[in-house]
Amino acid sequence: MIIMMVTELSNKNSLFLENMEHLSKDALLIGAHTSTAGGLFRALLQGEEIGATTIQLFTSNQRQWKPRKLDDDQIGLWKEALDQTGLKKVMSHDSYLINLGSTNQEILHKSQETFKEEIIRCHALNISFLNFHPGAATTGHEEDCLNQIIASLKKMESLCQKGHTRLLFETTAGQGTSVGHKFEHLAYLIDQLHKHIPVGVCIDTCHIFAAGYDIRTPESWEKTIKEFDEIIGLNHLFAFHLNDSMKPLGSRRDRHAHLGKGMVGIDSFKYLMVHPKLREIPKYLETPGGSSEWKKEIELLRTFAKK
Ligand SMILES: [Zn+2]
Ligand SMILES: [Zn+2]
Repeated sequence: MIIMMVTELSNKNSLFLENMEHLSKDALLIGAHTSTAGGLFRALLQGEEIGATTIQLFTSNQRQWKPRKLDDDQIGLWKEALDQTGLKKVMSHDSYLINLGSTNQEILHKSQETFKEEIIRCHALNISFLNFHPGAATTGHEEDCLNQIIASLKKMESLCQKGHTRLLFETTAGQGTSVGHKFEHLAYLIDQLHKHIPVGVCIDTCHIFAAGYDIRTPESWEKTIKEFDEIIGLNHLFAFHLNDSMKPLGSRRDRHAHLGKGMVGIDSFKYLMVHPKLREIPKYLETPGGSSEWKKEIELLRTFAKK
């Protein structure tokens, strides 16, 4: 009898330990940009299907001004799915049309109004991060563009206080006239805004590589992270977009590739998943393909993280 109890206990104990191990593995937040076809909540369900612990999504059509308002049914289904899947730190990606640094008054106004709606939807959906490309200096100087982005966002101070969503500037590849491809740009934005508005940075691995920051080896990662810390501050880093790059270092071209199938290489992602300061930061894949590819990539990243 006693022996039975002991075995039972030790079984329970090992089961408990297994669960703990399972939990600690799952606690790393890794996901992908999933699809909202059939309803916003579908993005959460797809996340669960691919073994994700977080996701990114578009909360409206990313190529349209004037999105439709969310109705109570949509919000209800979303909250139910959020609860049921247990996904955390969900991230929204804003519309591609928005340019908060535009010098064209009509585009600037539309951008500001559409971005406010992005924030309102994030608040309604309990979304942690709203990721966006800072802006583009289509006609003016980079500095004017950065100042316009700051002015645009300062108008939204009271709106931002109504919820818990943090606005994340995404590092860009520096295609065309887009700003945000130099750490100095992001440091300037954060410095001017962080006392007023919850802001931060999302590093896209494809973009920083294309922008000229090498991350292919542990040594180059360390150099890049040191630079980020000195210029922006690692305390302002809240998320990663994980993508390999089809284009070479410094090419300033934004073309995503599967992890390990581009010019960044798989060693870069291996190192990222064991880096003591970076492994816990939420990560979102934006690699080509779909569910089955992301599922494999998420599994691979979890394998790296265990070591
Ligand atoms: Zn990205
Ligand atoms: Zn990109």
